[in-house]
Amino acid sequence: MNSSNDFQGKAVIISAPSGAGKTTLVNKLLKAKLPLLFSISACSRAPREGEEDKKDYYFLSIEEFKEKIKAQDFIEWEEVYQGNFYGTLKKEIERIWKEKKHVVFDVDVIGGISLKEYFKENSISIFIKPPSMEVLSKRLKKRNTEDRESIKNRLEKSFEEMKSIDKFDKIIVNDELNISTKNIIKTVEKFLK
Ligand code: ADP
Ligand code: 5GP
Repeated sequence: MNSSNDFQGKAVIISAPSGAGKTTLVNKLLKAKLPLLFSISACSRAPREGEEDKKDYYFLSIEEFKEKIKAQDFIEWEEVYQGNFYGTLKKEIERIWKEKKHVVFDVDVIGGISLKEYFKENSISIFIKPPSMEVLSKRLKKRNTEDRESIKNRLEKSFEEMKSIDKFDKIIVNDELNISTKNIIKTVEKFLK
């Protein structure tokens, strides 16, 4: 998929277990004055406090989401957590590349592997690794956006996700935020050159 003759749109795929800090690092990356735009995913969960439709996600009902699956509007989609669907819209990539920007994805680990298979060498896949499972658990609790059941589900899924770490092009341990921020910016700068 290339929207113009003189611009080769690339893809930066960022994945991690929930709570590892991918949203934090993606936001730092987007502020780094690189020619990047965030791929807004579609999702069927309710917006959290402070989240905006068409900025954080395209918030859809489950029925609307399923219509888009049927219409083959997604590059990839998944029921990331039971009853909560998330997916990357084909139109979103076209929109970003048309603006001559490279696309940044914040997706779960399975989604990251699917996107890497789709974009191949035109992409870099980055795994954000928590310093430990204990720290991951603390961060999720401190973020205070999930109930106990949801935290438990997310931690269980994290153990599975850690097993796929070797499928990624680059691993960044998100311990000290300043260091991981510098690391991710440097990695992406090098890839875009
Ligand atoms: P994810 O998008 O992977 O679910 P978030 O970016 O929401 O994770 O981060 C989870 C929580 O951990 C947030 O409250 C965030 O502020 C915090 N956090 C992120 N990175 C760090 C870090 N390096 N050190 C300490 N806290 C962090
Ligand atoms: P949250 O509910 O915390 O915003 O996101 C839950 C998980 O869904 C995160 O791991 C996030 O990266 C992932 N996610 C967000 N958008 C997509 C998407 O389009 N596809 C896939 N596969 N996962 C996504």
